[in-house]
Amino acid sequence: NVVLQGRALNKQYRQSTEQTGIVLHDIDIDVHAGDFTVIMGASGAGKSTLLYVLSGMDQPTSGEVYYQGARIDTLGERRMAQLRAKEFGFVFQQPNLIGNLTLLENVCLAGYVAADRDGGEVRTEAERLLERMHVAHAAHRLPSEVSGGEAQRAAIARAVINHPGMLFADEPTGALNRRNSDDVLDLLSELNRNGQSILMVTHDVRAAIRSNRVLYVRDGELLGEFPLGVYRPDD
Ligand code: ADP
Ligand code: ADP
Repeated sequence: NVVLQGRALNKQYRQSTEQTGIVLHDIDIDVHAGDFTVIMGASGAGKSTLLYVLSGMDQPTSGEVYYQGARIDTLGERRMAQLRAKEFGFVFQQPNLIGNLTLLENVCLAGYVAADRDGGEVRTEAERLLERMHVAHAAHRLPSEVSGGEAQRAAIARAVINHPGMLFADEPTGALNRRNSDDVLDLLSELNRNGQSILMVTHDVRAAIRSNRVLYVRDGELLGEFPLGVYRPDD
């Protein structure tokens, strides 16, 4: 059951420092519903660009993107923004929380704004999510008053408050120490076990081993499935 599909995706930047400017080259990709899919590759390989193109944050130079069978790369900016708000959740390297709102308010705001939901229902669910993300003790603190790991756990709660069909994560552990990284990965794994489809970009093998499917990108090309068995998590 394919939830997200890229077909013959090319991305070329006019003013890239690279001579050709080609960042994605003829990429075909199927992301399956219920999977925890990881895209690995070296820095500069094109991983983030692929995630942005698949999630409608950026447009391919050519090619097609389908979500649940419907083409989305041709939607206008407004309809794309509506689709993203309703169907997609995002986690980045930095939590990007709003600085003058508490963690709980940050999570609630995503529920009110994006989905036009009932206020009480959103608040109850936001509190429950912060509990599941082991950050309930900090619900009423500002982002500046919590650790990097705590802020990132709240950012994950915010990303899933509207039950996205697809959760996109771009190096979600990139700014965290090892213990906090493991916490964040535990939470993503738990969300996935409960049915959340996840597409995560990382160059961190410790992150990749949590997934059930690893794709490898090199110089803008998708090399296909990566044999994870050759790695041991504690090497
Ligand atoms: P990765 O996520 O694998 O580190 P990126 O997708 O961020 O790789 O970048 C791939 C290549 O595209 C890099 O060479 C980068 O310099 C280039 N690139 C990314 N964004 C832009 C942009 N807005 N303009 C020009 N080049 C870009
Ligand atoms: P690291 O900063 O190395 O990733 P943690 O995020 O676990 O490790 O932070 C360790 C401790 O440092 C936290 O328990 C917290 O008390 C404090 N801390 C970290 N970041 C901040 C911050 N932005 N503001 C206040 N305290 C912080």
